[in-house]
Amino acid sequence: MQRITLLNPQLANQIAAGEVIERPASIVKELVENSLDAAAARVDIEIEKGGTELIRIRDEGYGIHKDDLALALSRHATSKILALDDLEQIASFGFRGEALASISSISRFRLASRTQENSHGWQIEVHGREPEISHTPIAHPVGTTIEVRDIFYNTPARRKFLKSEQTELNHIQEVVRRIAMSVFSVNLNLKHNQKYLLQLPIANSLIEKADRIAKICGREFIDQSLRLETESSDMQLSGWFGLPTFSRSQSDLQYIYINGRMVRDKVISHAVKQAYHDVLFGGRQPAYVLYLSCDPTLVDVNVHPAKNEVRFRDSRMIFDFVFRSVQRLLKETKPTSHAIPQSTYISEPEPVYSNYTKPQQNQIDLYKTLTAEPPTSTAKVSTPIITTATPTAIPTPISSSEPVNYPLGFALAQLKGIYILAQNEKGLVLVDMHAAHERIGYEKLKKQFDTQNIITQNLLIPLTISISETDAEFADQQKELFSSLGFNVERMGPENILIRSIPLLLKDADISLLVKDLISDLKEHHVTNKIQEHIYELLGTMACHQALRANRQLTIPEMNAILRQMEVTDHSNQCNHGRPTWTELSLYDLDKLFLRGR
Ligand code: ADP
Ligand code: MG
Repeated sequence: MQRITLLNPQLANQIAAGEVIERPASIVKELVENSLDAAAARVDIEIEKGGTELIRIRDEGYGIHKDDLALALSRHATSKILALDDLEQIASFGFRGEALASISSISRFRLASRTQENSHGWQIEVHGREPEISHTPIAHPVGTTIEVRDIFYNTPARRKFLKSEQTELNHIQEVVRRIAMSVFSVNLNLKHNQKYLLQLPIANSLIEKADRIAKICGREFIDQSLRLETESSDMQLSGWFGLPTFSRSQSDLQYIYINGRMVRDKVISHAVKQAYHDVLFGGRQPAYVLYLSCDPTLVDVNVHPAKNEVRFRDSRMIFDFVFRSVQRLLKETKPTSHAIPQSTYISEPEPVYSNYTKPQQNQIDLYKTLTAEPPTSTAKVSTPIITTATPTAIPTPISSSEPVNYPLGFALAQLKGIYILAQNEKGLVLVDMHAAHERIGYEKLKKQFDTQNIITQNLLIPLTISISETDAEFADQQKELFSSLGFNVERMGPENILIRSIPLLLKDADISLLVKDLISDLKEHHVTNKIQEHIYELLGTMACHQALRANRQLTIPEMNAILRQMEVTDHSNQCNHGRPTWTELSLYDLDKLFLRGR
């Protein structure tokens, strides 16, 4: 029989370090967060050899009292909470009181600090197996310096897991970037092997903040994203959300902050993904930097030793709020002055080009007949590939009072039966007519669908589905929810459920697969958009069949009517598969193409 002994503190700390300190980057995160908790307006990070040789963090925070220096290094020592109630209201990054204890147990560690009241600082050093603490007065400005050398020198097994200098540095840079995107009021600098990698001045205004984001995520991201700022009674949501045309193949440009803390969160990332569902193509990933703030009592931050995850008290409420807000924002991706797809040109102030023709109201009426009838009935078989417009053909402006500025301008011709060529204030507009028309039709069908309720259909022969016992039990408990989605579900046996009715629109779908997906979605996220997703998919197919086919000759009024419809249709910058529907070449861009100086 083995007897039980209490671990010595050093060993206990080294074990705790296994959870909190995965690699040099984790140390940087913990130390910078401590500096931020100390209200530092400036933090300098110096790294040697990917952090394996040296990590030095200097801050201008309020410092540590001389008598607390040794205490700061012991486990469960913190100035941030005193009672359990404090944990529910937590506003600081730290609260577990174990970072310094862990870090100092696996490295050669030096801590120097000076508070406002003292004319000089004090320092303590820890190295060797047993902590040796020596107090020495030193010259030091108000604030704290921490040096961490030779990480894992006394835990060789862990040292073996360190990767190359470059890999460790990449992780450190990512940590600093992530922190930098939420604490705009702090001047942050990162040096590696004596060279500055990041120098970020304090950013107060929205423009300065956007500049900082551009330094970190790339200028293109900021130029091609929409800014969101919205709130509900108890939450605020803000951030930058990439235009659908700026999607990525990886989820590497997705940053989530909850009350200033960077986290990985499935509820929120799922909500954003769903909001983009309708405008992203295939497996493309949206790019975004998202900030959610809410009452701290609504989130539990104490669910992960490295505090990378949180738990919401009401994840459904959070999901709905994020989903709706981002979805509403994305509806604005239609032709307007602020969101032009694929505009990679840095344009100068645009000359105003004004002698283009304006459409008549009857053209818009004409469009209605165009969309109401099957495409072939009004199609003229005309031989010329390009139809041109004479400016005098349509002379009457749409309204006599105000000159109207249409973002997509007015049609000039149709190219190869595929593209509409138009002219707006800035220059040339090119529209993919099938893609645009498909989106217009799709949005219309969705609106119709959203205003009606789900129409259900009883199955002639009810469908039995075999699933696990837990899933069957879950489905049985969620009967009400299923019926609100148009499914009548009944428990048949321990591992069987029976489907009696389904949404009419889904009569041709693989119901068994769909129901299984619904169950796993509901179990994982407590919410589902699967039904809407499937129905929208069907509406998309319908819209595609209704949309104008290539080689269909359009008249100028018909083309103008499509342009006007695009301007008022949500999401119309992308077709139903997320590809752009139009692009623009300003006179400036054209002049550049022809090397024409102005
Ligand atoms: P926690 O941050 O969870 O409180 P740490 O081990 O990271 O635990 O730090 C212990 C304590 O040391 C903190 O509560 C704080 O009082 C003090 N401390 C650590 N770093 C700094 C710093 N840069 N400036 C001022 N105080 C600090
Ligand atoms: Mg801490």
